Parts: sequence; structure tokens; C-alpha cells
Amino acid sequence: MKRTPGPQNIRPVTSCAKFSIPSEAPRLLEKARKALIRAIAPSSNFRVGAAVLTRNSKIFTGCNIESPVYLGLCAERVALFKALSEGAREFYVLAIACEGPVPLLPCGTCRQLLWEFAPKLLIVVKEKGKVKAYRLQDLLPVPFERNGRGPFRAQ
Ligand code: ZN
Repeated sequence: MKRTPGPQNIRPVTSCAKFSIPSEAPRLLEKARKALIRAIAPSSNFRVGAAVLTRNSKIFTGCNIESPVYLGLCAERVALFKALSEGAREFYVLAIACEGPVPLLPCGTCRQLLWEFAPKLLIVVKEKGKVKAYRLQDLLPVPFERNGRGPFRAQ
């Protein structure tokens, strides 16, 4: 069913953590946790790691990379771009780890970009010691869609 824009179709984030947790989630979260150690975050002073699982079971990790003048890239996009640049095209789960007790979900730019390459992506985070899964389509219910074509489809 095609969604139509409008606030009646936008569910709060808190209501979308009701999906089965992928069995790979703990391993992915551990990879994301290890990836954040390599973050370069002089602007935000907040390290983030991400790990994306492809359909053929490959894992690509990323960390946030910033310059001192606030230029940079989120961990999620680093992981996605690494995977894309290595030829991966189908993505299943993305795990995010960050410093501090509050789990991090992707920013708006990452949500849009992830949606363009993996609209059915599941995002997993650890909250108070428990793994939670979110569907990207719930985090971005009305994505920007310029021409109705995905990036891998012929023009
Ligand atoms: Zn982001």
C-alpha cells in the first residue's frame, strides 16, 4: 500500500521497536562498538560506530569522521559507502553503537540515504542492555523521492 504524506501516517519512533530481532544483531552491535574506537570526532567529541550486514552475510563497519571545522560524515554513511564501494548492493541490518547510555538512531540525512539504497533495512541498537530493532521505513515514513526510481534501477 502506498503511503500518502501527512502527519496521520507518521508514527512516533517509540512505537516501532516491536519487530523481531535479527539473530545477527548481537554480533553486528559488537562490530559497531569496536568500530567507534576508530572515530575521529574533534567537533562533536562523540564517537559512533556502525556495522551493516549485506544479504550475502558480509559485514562492513564505519565510524564517524569529522574535521575540526564541523565537516564530516556519520558512521552509518561511512559503513554504507564502504559496502557500496566494495560492490555490495543488498542490505539487511545496520547496527549502531555510540558512547553514553542513550542509543542513537540515524540522523535525517542518513535515514534518507539508507532508504534510497535499502528501504527495508532494519536498524538495531542496544538500549539499557537490550537489543532493539527499528524498521527504517518507520523512522522515515515519507522519504524524499525525486523520480520514483531507486539508485540501482535503470534510467
Ligand atoms: Zn547521519
